[in-house]
Amino acid sequence: MAKIQNPKAASQTQIQDLKRRLVDGLQVITGEGVLSGSGHLSARIPGTETFLINPRFAGVLADPKDICTVNFDAKRIAGKGPIPSETVIHAAIYRARPDVGSVIHCHARYSILVGLLDSGLIPFNREARIFSDGVPVFLDSRGINGMAHAERMVANLGPHHATFLRGHGIVVTGPGIEGACISAIQLERACQDQLLMMSVTELKPLDDKGRGRNQARLENPYRAWPFLLYMHKVKSKAQIRAGIRTLDEGKHY
Ligand SMILES: [Zn+2]
Repeated sequence: MAKIQNPKAASQTQIQDLKRRLVDGLQVITGEGVLSGSGHLSARIPGTETFLINPRFAGVLADPKDICTVNFDAKRIAGKGPIPSETVIHAAIYRARPDVGSVIHCHARYSILVGLLDSGLIPFNREARIFSDGVPVFLDSRGINGMAHAERMVANLGPHHATFLRGHGIVVTGPGIEGACISAIQLERACQDQLLMMSVTELKPLDDKGRGRNQARLENPYRAWPFLLYMHKVKSKAQIRAGIRTLDEGKHY
């Protein structure tokens, strides 16, 4: 697991920016069929033991002013709320994984189906590459509403980047909001592709040197994220073009 240095506490301007990006992320993952009326996306507030999360209504309807601030005990400390009943999933991950900057929990259709297979995810294509280190299945997967239950899920997740909650949904982590959203989209798409291919052939994991995660691309998905913002009409083309920063410039997209 990558260690990160303790960053300086985020300013109010940075927190507002995180809220705006979180709302953008909710729009994109809903447009991609990953998030539905339920499910939640959170972002760690750097340098604090708090994070941001959408309240307990359909994430796609949230505005930045609706986004709640929650501490690592999963208690709401700002925002109107109420917060989702499974907010402990996020708190437990941020406590245990300093490399994680954003978490998604959702009930994505194809991911739930693959989580029920004995084979689990078979990383046989490009979409699944970022999960070639494995996606563990958590069996005690009824609604995760208590911290002890969430901590057992985190222990089962280990150093991995996603887990299937058997018959319930998925939890996906990322270095930041955009990377977590792209990971969740790729997992759902990989699961859909796997189910399609399993109906016609036996699948084997991809065996090439390009497997694995490209961390820099997930920290700054400078091609994928502007495309998704455009496709789901989250922003105008001019706004998106103005926000594009290439990898060398080191900004978030
Ligand atoms: Zn759930």
